[in-house]
Amino acid sequence: QMVIDVKEITYRYGAIEALRGVSFGIEQGAKTVLMGPNGAGKSTLISLLNGLEQPAAGEIHVLGEKLTQESGRLVRQRVGVVYQDPDDQIFSTTVEEDVAFGPRNLGLGETDVAERVRESLDSVGMGELRGRSPFELSYGQKRRVAIAGVLAMQPEVIILDEPMAFLDPKSRDDLQALLEKMHEMGITLMIATHDVDFAAEWADQVLILKDGRMLAAGTTDLLFDDG
Ligand code: ADP
Ligand code: ADP
Repeated sequence: QMVIDVKEITYRYGAIEALRGVSFGIEQGAKTVLMGPNGAGKSTLISLLNGLEQPAAGEIHVLGEKLTQESGRLVRQRVGVVYQDPDDQIFSTTVEEDVAFGPRNLGLGETDVAERVRESLDSVGMGELRGRSPFELSYGQKRRVAIAGVLAMQPEVIILDEPMAFLDPKSRDDLQALLEKMHEMGITLMIATHDVDFAAEWADQVLILKDGRMLAAGTTDLLFDDG
């Protein structure tokens, strides 16, 4: 079953065509890597998949549902995005308040919120730092808090934008283990990255964008086709 089905989407910022007739599908439980040089359209595509922006042409279906202005909010519960810079999605005074924000916003009762916060922080190995200010944490810890906040929404799909950037080797290993755990939880994962070694090792599907077009889509063999 296709979890994400993108058909011929186009997106413009004024005269700039950021996406031009992009199509692809992502199956349930897949590990997809989104690659391409800076300016290729990766961030734009992510914001469309998250229902934050609407394509000028074409269609996006998420879990069988067509993405529209109206369905955007529902889709944001099912497709979680971990932004490149964790400071963009951390804003509460404590780690646990930060993770509680999403589920509370869904209208869940405090018992359920607390349960989700505990589970999510344990998943990312941040349970012991729940009372700390997220702003005083290391970059890798902040990223894990951001991931916990997304996990607490219990989305079917999680998209991570350059999650390995600026992490030391230990934090990278921790994050790789966490990605594996999320995969085992049945979450469909898509990662935007420049890291070819990571892509080759981790992904089972590779999407390569360039100048707003899908240059290639297929297995990791693609990474070795040309230079
Ligand atoms: P990537 O994430 O692959 O670096 P982006 O999606 O950020 O690519 O950008 C795709 C194209 O759209 C680029 O040409 C970029 O300059 C342009 N672009 C991105 N955001 C904006 C914006 N807010 N206003 C105008 N142009 C933008
Ligand atoms: P891109 O990958 O889109 O070209 P950059 O690599 O230039 O983007 O930077 C991505 C973001 O990460 C920027 O918002 C930048 O401010 C931030 N950033 C860069 N270096 C660090 C760092 N060492 N710690 C935290 N944030 C950083």
